Parts: sequence; structure tokens; C-alpha cells
Amino acid sequence: MNPSNVLEIKGLSVEFSTERGRLPALRNVDLAVPAGAIVGVVGESGCGKSTMIHSIVRLLSPNGRVVSGSIHFEGSDLLGMTEPEMRSIRGDRISMVSQDPMISLNPVLSIGTQMVDIQYREKLDKSRKRARAVTMLQRVGIPDAAERLDDYPHQFSGGMRQRIAIAMALQAEPSLLIADEPTTALDATLEVQIIHRLQELQQSMGCSILFISHHLGVIAELCDLVVVMYGGEVVENGTVRDIFHRPMHPYTQKLIECDPARMVEITRVQPTIPGEVPDLARLPAGCIFSGRCHLAFGKCHDQPPALAGQDGGHRARCHLTDPGPGT
Ligand code: SF4
Repeated sequence: MNPSNVLEIKGLSVEFSTERGRLPALRNVDLAVPAGAIVGVVGESGCGKSTMIHSIVRLLSPNGRVVSGSIHFEGSDLLGMTEPEMRSIRGDRISMVSQDPMISLNPVLSIGTQMVDIQYREKLDKSRKRARAVTMLQRVGIPDAAERLDDYPHQFSGGMRQRIAIAMALQAEPSLLIADEPTTALDATLEVQIIHRLQELQQSMGCSILFISHHLGVIAELCDLVVVMYGGEVVENGTVRDIFHRPMHPYTQKLIECDPARMVEITRVQPTIPGEVPDLARLPAGCIFSGRCHLAFGKCHDQPPALAGQDGGHRARCHLTDPGPGT
């Protein structure tokens, strides 16, 4: 493992056993999160983003299993850990924020009770823990935090609940925050506020963030590095500048063209990428994107392209950018 990375995934393949047979949801995924960096993962629904997160925290559904590959976090092999070892990492060294804050908030307990409870590893008295909770709530922008500590989740707006969920995730000062579409359910103004707050907190706390989203504008605003996923594979990765100014993969190019924020002509029709994501039970023999790619040619249909480019830099999985040996 590269010591400058907090998280390093290599050759990760995950499959699910279903009535339709084994579905290879992730295939040979590589991803690295350098210390202090924000890495965005972008792709349509069904591209494997959630499966990857659940693999990292070892919370795959019972019918899912890691077939091959490795996941290292701060130098330790997560896939080789016992369940008690994993429990000591989850919520402490690795925290998560999900799209729906009510997943992490208990509706029948006050915010203060929950924020004190999650500090169970700390050897502090309750008043110190409440004081730390107030400080964290202030840092995420909850007004009158001390007065609102005894309020319940339903007494806060959706945006405030998401801020509280972020405060709870960051309370233990984790090395890695996994943010799974945390702003998708919010309106644009709240989304911008939360993105900026996350940026400030990440800089002041020095943690790394793995930020999952299908919203390109948010990825461009927040992230240092970007991984583009499609149909369970990484199809392109690079810096934000690489991905948004020099996209190499036709899928990335189409995603950017379809971003409403980048449309230059007024239209009543939201552009989309024609076709659908591939059926995992009937994957194409060649390129995973060949069924929707307007540039597909001969070998795209029977030879899978490799992820090629600069080692540790801008790479894409496309025969056009990697003609391969002898061609
Ligand atoms: Fe399109 Fe072929 Fe490149 Fe796949 S390998 S993205 S089908 S041009």
C-alpha cells in the first residue's frame, strides 16, 4: 500500500447470489484516497457506487461476497479483519453520512442524547461530552446549538438534519468520511451551503472524504480527484481538471454533456445518454459501454479494454485512448 493513501482498493470484485444467478456487481475496481484529499465517485444508478461503499465498511448484504481484491485502510487489510476489529473502526476511524439523515438519527432520542451516546469510546463525563456535541453542532452551522441539544430530529428541517448527521459522523474525528449522496435530497441552495461547510470541516480537521454523487457540479466544486464508474467498473479516473477539461472516456464525455449546468442552448428537453445500463446477468463480451457508445467500433464488441494511461494519474478504459499492443 502507498503510505500516502488513507484508503487503497485494488482489483476489487464483488458478486451477489440471486435467483437469476451470480451478478458480478463490481469487477476489478481500483481506487485510492490520499490523506487529506476529497475523492469523488460519480456514475449513474446501478454503477456499483453503493456496493463499493458497503464492501469498504464490510456491510454487504448476506447474498453479497468479495470474490477477489484487497481493501487497505491506514495500512491494515480490512477484508482480513475480524468483526470486532471492524466494529472498532466503523464510526471511529471511518464514518459515514448517507442521503437520508434519518438513517443515522434515531427519531425517539434527542439530538443531545445521540451525540453523547456516540462518544461512548471517550473517557469523559457527560457534561464534557455535551459540551463537545455543542461545539460540533456549531461547527456544522446549527444556530443556538446549546439550546437545541434537547430537541428531537423531527424538530429540525431536512437541511439541519443533514448537518446534524455530518456533525455526528465527524464527532469522532475520523480519518475517512464516506459521504453517500449527502446532498441529493436537498434543494440547490442548501446543497451549496452543505458542500462549503464540508470543505471547511475537511480542511480544519484534515480528514479524507470519499464523496459519492451522481451530481457532476457538486463533484467539480468539492473534489480533488474523481473516479467515474459504469456498470460495476472504473471507466476513468483523474484529477478534477482531467475529468472536466480533458475527459477521455465517451461515457464521461456524455455525462458532462448531459449536466444541465453546462448546457449552452435553451432547451425544453433534458439531454440523456441513450440506452440503459447493462444487465449484470448478461454483460457484453467487449467494452461494458459498447451498447450505448456512439464511437463503438469492431473490437469494442468482443475485447474488453484495459484501464490505461498514466500510472497513478489520468486513466481511461477505452480502446480509443489505449490502442493496445500491436495496433
Ligand atoms: Fe466506446 Fe469502444 Fe471506447 Fe468502449 S472501448 S467506450 S465502446 S469507443
